[in-house]
Parts: sequence; C-alpha cells; structure tokens
Amino acid sequence: MSAHASNEPREVAIVGGGIGGLTLALSLHAAGLKPRVFERAPQLIEAGAGIQLSPNAMRVMRALGLEHALIPFAFAPEALEMCDGVSGRHVFSIRAQQRRWGAPYLHLHRADLVAVLEQTLEARVPGALTTDAGVTAIEDDGEQVTLSFADGTHVADLAVGADGIHSTVRRGLFGSAGAQFTGQLAWRATVPTEKLGANLPPPTACVWTGSGRHAVTYRVRGGQVANFVGVVEREDWQGESWTEAGTREDVLADFDGWRPEITAIIEAADRHYRWALHDRPPLPQWHRGRIGLLGDACHPVLPFLAQGAAMAIEDGWVLAAMLAQNLPVDAALAAYASARRERVQRVYEGARHNAELFHLAQTPRRAGTRAILKLGGRLLPGVARSRLDWLYGDDVTAHFPLRA
Ligand SMILES: Cc1cc2nc3c(=O)[nH]c(=O)nc-3n(C[C@H](O)[C@H](O)[C@H](O)COP(=O)(O)OP(=O)(O)OC[C@H]3O[C@@H](n4cnc5c(N)ncnc54)[C@H](O)[C@@H]3O)c2cc1C
Repeated sequence: MSAHASNEPREVAIVGGGIGGLTLALSLHAAGLKPRVFERAPQLIEAGAGIQLSPNAMRVMRALGLEHALIPFAFAPEALEMCDGVSGRHVFSIRAQQRRWGAPYLHLHRADLVAVLEQTLEARVPGALTTDAGVTAIEDDGEQVTLSFADGTHVADLAVGADGIHSTVRRGLFGSAGAQFTGQLAWRATVPTEKLGANLPPPTACVWTGSGRHAVTYRVRGGQVANFVGVVEREDWQGESWTEAGTREDVLADFDGWRPEITAIIEAADRHYRWALHDRPPLPQWHRGRIGLLGDACHPVLPFLAQGAAMAIEDGWVLAAMLAQNLPVDAALAAYASARRERVQRVYEGARHNAELFHLAQTPRRAGTRAILKLGGRLLPGVARSRLDWLYGDDVTAHFPLRA
C-alpha cells in the first residue's frame, strides 16, 4: 500500500469501517481532505439488529446529504415512551418532535445504515474503503504514520482509530482500557412485523421496565421489522459480540410473565443474540501525536441512552472540522478531544443513570420514581421534552462548520 504525494490534500487513514469510521470518512471528504478506510472484515456486514438514530446524529446525516437516502429504510417513532413490562401500564410518553429538535428521530436496521454510508463513500471517493485489511500495529515517527497489516504497510499523514471497543489503535497508544463487567446481558432479536399479529409492539421507541431487567422495542425497515433489546441482570456470560447467539428458551425464561408484545418477539425470532455489557469510562486522552481515537475506541457508552453510535457520528464530524482548519495535526486532534469531552462524559453518566432507573427493584423508591416520571410526562410534557433538549437538540454541524 502506497504513501501519498506531497501536493495532494492531507490523507487521513481511518482504522475501522464501522458507523464512526465511515461517518468520519464522509465528513473528511466534505471538508476537502482525503480519507482512506481500512476495515478488518472481508465485507461490511452489520449484525441483525436495529439502531436508534436520534436527531443530534441525524443533523450530521443531513449535513452529509444522507437524510433522504436513509428515510426509505427507516421508521420514525410516534413517541418515546416507558411502560411496565409486566402490567403494560404507561409510565410516560413524549412525542418525538422533529420541530423541537430540528431533525427526525429515526430507527434503522444497522445493515441499512452501514450500506448507505458505504455506498455513498464509494460514490464520492471511489476506492477509499479497503476491506480485509486488519491493522496489526501503528507507528508515528513525528512526520507521518505507518499502519501495518498482515501483508504490508500503508503510510499516511495521520491516523484515526475508529476500531471499536477492542481497539488495536487504543491498545497501541495507551494499553488496554479497564473494562468492568456490569453484570448485565443484552439480548437482541429482530422479527418481521407480519409474524406478530395482535402482539406487535407500539409504533414508538418503548422502554419496558421491570425488576432487574428491561426491554426496548421499536420498528425498522419502514415498519416491516420489529426490533427487541432485552437487558437482564445475569453473570453467566461475559462475551461482547454482535454474532454470539443464545437460546430462545433462555430469553423466554428471562422475560417469563412479561407482556405478549415482548414474549411474542422472543418466540418468533430465529436468532437471539447476546452481548454482555461492560462499563468503560471515557479515556482521559483521545490522541497522541498524529494518531487520534473516535467513538467506542475511546468512549464506549452503555446502550441505555441509545447514544453510542450517535456520539461516534458526532465525533466524526467534529474531528473533520478540526482537521480542516489547517492547524498542526497534534493541535487539531487536541482541539477535537477538548470540543467533545464534556458532552461525551454527560452522555456516559446519563446512560449509567438510566441503567439504574430502568432496573429499580419493586421498592418504594421505584414507585416514587415512577410517580414522578408519570406526573412529569403527563402534566408537563414540555418539561419532560426539554430535559432531552441538551442531547437531541444539539447540532455539531452548526457549532463546528466544516471549513474554517
Ligand atoms: C445492545 C446495543 C444496542 C445499542 N443501541 C444503540 C442505539 O440504538 N443507538 C446508538 O447510537 N448506539 C447504540 N449502541 C452503541 C453502538 O452500537 C456503538 O456505540 C457504535 O457501534 C460504535 O461505533 P464505532 O464506529 O465506534 O465502532 P464499531 O461499530 O465497533 O466499529 C468498529 C469497526 O472497526 C473494525 N475493526 C476493529 N478492529 C480493527 C482493526 N484492527 N483493523 C481494521 N478494522 C478493525 C470492526 O470490524 C468494525 O467494523 C448500542 C450498543 C449495544 C451493545
């Protein structure tokens, strides 16, 4: 793999072609820089699972000209709501308002999102993505960065590790990040909605709460597919993988006695994937010299605010904006990290708070918390919505325009 010519725009090597890495590549191209993405997998195939793209992430998709390409694959929920997983009782409901947050709240199948990102990158920067290219080591000599692969090397002006929670780039820079198993397992399944009949979950993003467990349901693929995530406190499996499956019986046992909207999906699904949730606080440093980190590689967040990918998407935009400013590389990477750190920390803490809220045992504290949530959602929906403004209403594309 070759080095760049000196009269070309600055080349940024991106390790990892996930949601964060592909968004960074498209943002760099929009900023007049040259992205090269190296992805370990032979093909970009995302797991059979849905993803919620909140309005803050959709602002970036819109600025990259992708909103209309995504909408045909998406489902726009009518509301964000919380119900009791056993009785079905409503706790609260907040209308998902595009007008308030400036962009739609969309649910997508991960494969559809990645396909749109990949195809757009290929159309705009042909050949920018190389698959089957796992980076084994990375070295910064102060002038340029050398990536090593099983079959050769590639030299670039700078590099970004967008290679997820088990990041090779992060390990090379800062060693292994401390991961604490939370004692929680996330089950995931998707089912065509036509198989669910009367037990179809509502057309919302619905959090179903219970003692020591919760579930989230929503629809993807224009409403043709229902998505289920079920989080349960159990310690018997600690792997983190999009492809490891467990058994239907196991998931049914975990949600025994729950609403038919939940058990019907579990019964009808062909595969029940499992992912053990680990807590990793954001790294204190997100770059060294000419090598930066983005998304889960430097700040994986628990999925209880549905913001991990949204933060990776925002990172991609902000990093491109900083690199476009013609600062020295080290200064641009430092500016990116300092622009992002506070918001990411707030999201990390918000996700941990929700973990506790969703799983409160059947105690007076739970009843009290729910009563407050219910009252807040019913009587003061504007207040409930405004509590999400800092998250969904933020627009990194306005704060950090791509050109200086
Ligand atoms: C159960 C669950 C539900 C979630 N739901 C949501 C949600 O609704 N909304 C949301 O915003 N977030 C959600 N998230 C979080 C979200 O999935 C992640 O935060 C997001 O995928 C991170 O993106 P990334 O690009 O940083 O990393 P990844 O998606 O992990 O991508 C990393 C890429 O790097 C590649 N790679 C790894 N090592 C190498 C190497 N050495 N060389 C080359 N390539 C390499 C990998 O193959 C992969 O393609 C959820 C997470 C979980 C576990």
